[in-house]
Amino acid sequence: MAELNMEEAVLTTRLDTVVNWARKNSLWPMPFGTACCAIEFMSVMASKYDLSRFGAEAMRFSPRQSDMMLVLGTVTNKMAPVLRTIYAQMAEPKWVISVGVCASSGGMYRTYATLQGIDRVIPVDVYVPGCPPRPESMIYGVMKLQEKIEKESLSQRDDHIRRFYESLDRQHALEAEKGLTGQQAIRHMLMDAAEQGAATIF
Ligand code: SF4
Repeated sequence: MAELNMEEAVLTTRLDTVVNWARKNSLWPMPFGTACCAIEFMSVMASKYDLSRFGAEAMRFSPRQSDMMLVLGTVTNKMAPVLRTIYAQMAEPKWVISVGVCASSGGMYRTYATLQGIDRVIPVDVYVPGCPPRPESMIYGVMKLQEKIEKESLSQRDDHIRRFYESLDRQHALEAEKGLTGQQAIRHMLMDAAEQGAATIF
């Protein structure tokens, strides 16, 4: 077998492949923890489950330094504008994992005060079922996100992110025009969307 001369070796690949490989192995989590799922997430980050094995240990509480938001817990309607602002401030490309039934569907809180699924107000990439999901389930969710990132293309600016920013402009315009709070504007938009048979506002 001919000896491989490493100094002359050439490797060809696609830019998408290299960049996505780097992206999927260096996710910076932004925990949006509001309830018990956040406690479960602490064990995901601790030594037993150790998310750093996936290159995702650099947890940041600043959206501008994060690209993977994990929504961990019940989100009330009052928190919806905060969630949208934090998502808007995150660096792009960015991804969202909805952890647990509360974040994904409102869970057992079928009440007027609880947002019935965060995907009504921000785009979600992966849903992790359970109440609370086991740490293994959260890790599986991160692995599913990695698979998704692997297939993305650099030239693609996700349509749902563009639509999200448009909806944020609409929200701010409503607030300014009608003197509404963020929560009231989002409620208004959700009701408009429901009249048109849509469940989301973006
Ligand atoms: S899904 Fe269960 S564990 Fe998670 S926040 Fe809701 S009630 Fe708590």
